[in-house]
Amino acid sequence: MEYYIIHLPLEIPRELVYCSPVKIREGARVIVNLSSRLWTGICGKKTLPEEGKDISYKAVIEVLDTCPVLSQELMQLGYWMASYYHCSIGRALFAMLPSRLQPELEANVIWLAEEVPEQFLPLKKAIAASDNSNLKALRKELSSYPLYKRIEEAEEQGLIKLKRKLNHKDKPRTVNYIIRLQPPVAEDSLPLKQREAWERIKEEESSFPMSNISSTISYSAVKALVKKGFIKIEPRRFEPESPSFEGFSLLKQIELNNAQLQAIEDINKGFGTFNVNLLYGITGSGKTEVYMELIRRYLAADKTIIFLIPEIALTPQMVDRFQSNFGQILAIQHSQLTEKERLIQWQKIKSGDKRIVIGARSAVFAPLPDLGLIIVDEEHEGTYKQESAPRYQGRDLAIKRAQLQNAQVILGSATPALESWHNALTGKYQLQKIENRPLDYCLPNVQVIDLRDEYDQSLISPLLLEAIDKRLQRKEQVILFQNRRGYSSFMQCLKCGKLITCKNCEISMSYHRDREEMQCHYCGNTIPSPRKCPYCGSYSFAYGAPGTQKIEQNLKILFPEAKILRMDSDSARKRDTYKSMYNRMKNREVDILLGTQMISKGLDFPLVTLVGIVMADISLNLPDFRAAERTFQLLTQVAGRSGRRDKIGEVIIQTYNPEHYSIVSASQQNYILFATEELGYRKKLYYPPYYRLARILFQSPDLELLKKEAPSIHEAADKLHKQFPVPQLFLLGVTPAPFSKISSYYRYHLIFKAQTVTVLQSAIRQFNSTYHCPSNIHKQIDIDPNNLM
Ligand code: ADP
Ligand code: ZN
Ligand code: ZN
Repeated sequence: MEYYIIHLPLEIPRELVYCSPVKIREGARVIVNLSSRLWTGICGKKTLPEEGKDISYKAVIEVLDTCPVLSQELMQLGYWMASYYHCSIGRALFAMLPSRLQPELEANVIWLAEEVPEQFLPLKKAIAASDNSNLKALRKELSSYPLYKRIEEAEEQGLIKLKRKLNHKDKPRTVNYIIRLQPPVAEDSLPLKQREAWERIKEEESSFPMSNISSTISYSAVKALVKKGFIKIEPRRFEPESPSFEGFSLLKQIELNNAQLQAIEDINKGFGTFNVNLLYGITGSGKTEVYMELIRRYLAADKTIIFLIPEIALTPQMVDRFQSNFGQILAIQHSQLTEKERLIQWQKIKSGDKRIVIGARSAVFAPLPDLGLIIVDEEHEGTYKQESAPRYQGRDLAIKRAQLQNAQVILGSATPALESWHNALTGKYQLQKIENRPLDYCLPNVQVIDLRDEYDQSLISPLLLEAIDKRLQRKEQVILFQNRRGYSSFMQCLKCGKLITCKNCEISMSYHRDREEMQCHYCGNTIPSPRKCPYCGSYSFAYGAPGTQKIEQNLKILFPEAKILRMDSDSARKRDTYKSMYNRMKNREVDILLGTQMISKGLDFPLVTLVGIVMADISLNLPDFRAAERTFQLLTQVAGRSGRRDKIGEVIIQTYNPEHYSIVSASQQNYILFATEELGYRKKLYYPPYYRLARILFQSPDLELLKKEAPSIHEAADKLHKQFPVPQLFLLGVTPAPFSKISSYYRYHLIFKAQTVTVLQSAIRQFNSTYHCPSNIHKQIDIDPNNLM
């Protein structure tokens, strides 16, 4: 008998050991029984039965893989992840695999084929003999037959059909399409609203997803047009557009400049070994060309590459460029894939058919053989952090994985995270800089406007107004940025001063004027916007910082002739709308693009010569230690959208804090100025990169319960100081979190600030072993949290 530790996708505190008469390889999938339920697990390390104790070990029911699904390196990465992020090994391992590799254990099976290959004979017989052909029942029937393994093979060969539980990700997505018909009556007979809608519909293809236009025209106008026979609506299978192949325009021959060549040669010195490079290059400096050249060198050496980007749906240009350069050997991991497509792609990656994987954070787990290089583009982006268990940071895992596989890492950014910058300054990473744009593409001229001097408080100052007007006359394009969706950020009673807040979250709700609704942007809860104050009955309200909807409305009044497109998560729930925006911008069908941070990334339109930032302060006012950093990053990225070709760009930043260092340095596009200032604060306040952070969040729908528990948490935390005195360890709390209630859960937190990662990890382990959290309080550990809100 052999004994193995088996990892299940569960959070259980003890190790599960099973026995097996046959050898199982580490990283292979197995089926086991736990508490009279079948589970798919991953085989871990070999172990020995506990001596002296008379435990009878359960046997592994089935081994699914002869060749492990997880390589040695990925197993190592999983062990590291579990220990570093404090989750179970099983959770970490299954996070790396497509969900289809956890087979349905209780589905019904139907035999389809006529022919029965020999190895499937017992299966076919058992199905014919049973009346419901449920897998669980068949498992009992066929006790020594590798049922689940054969089922997987038979399904792959199309011999059987499994009736799976309904899974929304598996269904091909259907969406409503608008189909244009021959106008049955003259177009001029339409009332104004419908006429406008019809004009807009004519700009699209003859049939197109309704979501393309839902942000610009009202549903009632669409309904009226259906009734009058101008259009019809039909649900159709949504085909995720394969990225448009723009071959010729993208495959232009580029001659790399000296700064690019220098960066390539410097990085190349570490070719084939583990080392981390921080490629700091201003926006539009040609970092992508550097990546491409290094990718070609790795391909030539028969190595494979992972390319991480923050959000695949928001970077169509980047994906296009890769597609046209690398075509067939490129795997694009986008969120529109069904589970089955995802599995097929995974198999192609594992078998070496695909040599480059491009995707968001989970692409760091791509099972590429012979991994040589991992690139993390826009490495400072918050989306690399997974905000549900396991709470890993994709960039950091990329570095860990590279270390385990002796691969090279490139982190690229125009605004590096301070952690990465600090590592470059201290020599832990190699730093490469590209400080100019190629050819004579200039950095934009930036002007800062002090909103406190704007007496009439209009959202668009006269200077910005004039600048927009000039662009419209010259037929150039404008991007306006406001990082707040909705109409305005809050509604406050002018008499009693109370805010309209969400009952689940105790956070002020945003006013959405198009729907006359208040919406909470944390839990999504909506209520009709009140006409009178629910507290004192007064009828007058003040409205907070304007959102994109309000600005859109103003723009329509100021520039009635301009074609305005709004992009925010209200208008763009789906990738297709983003793509449609991208195409309309490119085809010059839009004069003014207005949006939230969705439009801050990766867009490169030659005709954009003006970027206006309506209110730069929005992210600055958040109660979080990264607020200044986020503001700087956002402003710099947005400003970088201007003047990317031969035209000089202009950027206008409107703000109430013109002297704040993050705004001053962003207006000068001066990262080093910002970093130096911000590092000073971080050091003084014991924040990263000088200290390591973790937070433990305690949540419950019952506030009294949390209040009652707080002293015990406090006591357990206090004891940690015996072993880890200040300044080795600082503890904050336990206190209510800045967002003290989200989705009906009250939130308390305890924050750890430690001098080293070792202190941090031992302190958390010790806290976990001394403090026992009652089962009705939900405890969540977040290492290297993105924010402390
Ligand atoms: P980044 O990734 O740093 O923002 P990109 O690689 O997207 O910059 O380059 C910005 C623009 O400059 C792109 O349109 C690219 O084709 C162009 N470009 C990059 N390098 C060169 C070069 N050496 N010569 C001419 N154009 C270049
Ligand atoms: Zn009131
Ligand atoms: Zn809410």
